[in-house]
Amino acid sequence: MATVLERVSEFKNEALIDFKDPANKAKMEAALAAVRAGGSATYDLIINGRRVRGAGTFKTSNPAKPSESVGTVQKASPAQAREAVAAAEQAFYSWSKVPAAQRAALLFKAAELTRARRFEFDALLVLEVGKSWGEADGDVAEGIDFLEYYAREMLRLDGPHPVTPVPGEKNAMIYIPLGVGVIIPPWNFAFAIMAGMTSAAIVAGNAVVLKPSSDSPVIAYKFVELLEQAGMPPGVVNLVTGSGSEIGDLLVQHPRVRFISFTGSKEVGLHINQLAATPQAGQIWIKRVVAEMGGKDSIVVAADADLDAAVDGVAASAFGFQGQKCSACSRAIVEAPIYDEFVNRLKKRVATINTGDPADPSVTMGPVINEGSLKKIESYVAEGKKEGTLIAGGERASGEGYYMQPTVIADVKPDAKIAQEEIFGPVLAVIKAKDYDDALRIANNTEYGLTGSVYSQDRSKLERARDEFHVGNLYFNRKCTGAMVGAHPFGGFNMSGTDSKAGGPDYLLLFLQAKSVSEKVG
Ligand code: NAP
Ligand code: MG
Repeated sequence: MATVLERVSEFKNEALIDFKDPANKAKMEAALAAVRAGGSATYDLIINGRRVRGAGTFKTSNPAKPSESVGTVQKASPAQAREAVAAAEQAFYSWSKVPAAQRAALLFKAAELTRARRFEFDALLVLEVGKSWGEADGDVAEGIDFLEYYAREMLRLDGPHPVTPVPGEKNAMIYIPLGVGVIIPPWNFAFAIMAGMTSAAIVAGNAVVLKPSSDSPVIAYKFVELLEQAGMPPGVVNLVTGSGSEIGDLLVQHPRVRFISFTGSKEVGLHINQLAATPQAGQIWIKRVVAEMGGKDSIVVAADADLDAAVDGVAASAFGFQGQKCSACSRAIVEAPIYDEFVNRLKKRVATINTGDPADPSVTMGPVINEGSLKKIESYVAEGKKEGTLIAGGERASGEGYYMQPTVIADVKPDAKIAQEEIFGPVLAVIKAKDYDDALRIANNTEYGLTGSVYSQDRSKLERARDEFHVGNLYFNRKCTGAMVGAHPFGGFNMSGTDSKAGGPDYLLLFLQAKSVSEKVG
């Protein structure tokens, strides 16, 4: 009889919606209106399937129009955060015994329900985090991909794995879940990363507390609700909203928590790693920390590169979603012979980017996430003007939202502050390299190692980069953003994190532990 895995179709990436099609455009406009109309709704905590009010509330707002509420959300109290851990622990005992095929079926069902709500989720991302229509749809499609991919991965990992035969023994290795996890995602892939981190943990048989970013709690609520509709038992995912600085430490330190899966900044990731390393009273395990953190990603443009392709790739990687991707290009490293021409062409290309409210589909660049982020970006730009030559942008763009112009600073030294620190906004440093050796050396000179790209038509240069460019996701002659589930397992080196390779065949193992069973026979 065919196994469940054999009966499942091969994984394929979800196609993106074509918004040029008038029918799709009309559906998206209707979805935006509907999400807007729901902006006065209040969202509860979800603990053991129950809707619970918190110790207070906060509003999540549209970064393109901060006066517009996207929803009112609960601030969980410390006691409620502890209750959520207890609920997950209770659920773990039964959920971990549910056959893997049934857990995978939950993810397949969740993918199907997400497809049915594609426009609604797209619209919510436009309004809650300021994505353009295309970026929002890419985020939701990637979330569907994670659900489909991890479901198949669990089916692959289920059951006894053959080991080296030993005469007189029957041996096998199986994978079992870890226990209670805390899932802490960022806001920038508010659906994909949140849904991917959560679904990977639970399909492996764990139960979790999901603490979404305070900038994107509504999409997380809708996802947990959707998992319930797909048949998830109470307590398997508990939703606890509220400030990470207020309830985060408590969740990370809780002695019944077995693992923490975090994606976000280097500062918070290192803090979590340190807290989790100290055993608490009653704790009987070493906590596992999966931490995917920041980037300072470079595109190297070799002297022989197709310049127009390089300019396009750099602009798309630097300014897509306002530079707020961990994979965003924030350094273009350009060989001296073509440097001036590259800068000229880039300046013209950046002038074609229009900034405004991404609810308007003709807008290519929307707002940054919040006022704090805008101020931080402005201070980096002020610094950058001293460290190099401003050739585009440099100012807030007009409008009520948190708008920043796409900004390019050229002639930046490789060790300058704006060439080293993650800015997480639409700011690109252009660095001149003496030659290709110099370019590769500069590309490796930060503490990060997430993504990178090389534009060159010279095979030997690409092969050198394959060996020497030390990043978790390396691309040739294409942009350094837009990793696809299955095709480009994602995660970085050095201070970019634990290289978890989300969307790849190693990922689920992070939420499992192997058990070897050996029986004497004959
Ligand atoms: P962040 O400020 O580090 O926040 C990430 C998450 O941590 C949020 O849910 C946040 O909650 C929570 N948090 C904050 N303080 C905490 C604490 N003491 N204990 C526990 N949790 C705490 O990052 P972000 O601004 O959301 O996201 C941007 C960052 O993520 C960038 O650095 C980017 O490079 C990185 N990123 C990396 C990857 C990757 O795969 N490597 C992917 C995407 C993004 P609150 O919102 O309530 O503070
Ligand atoms: Mg918001």
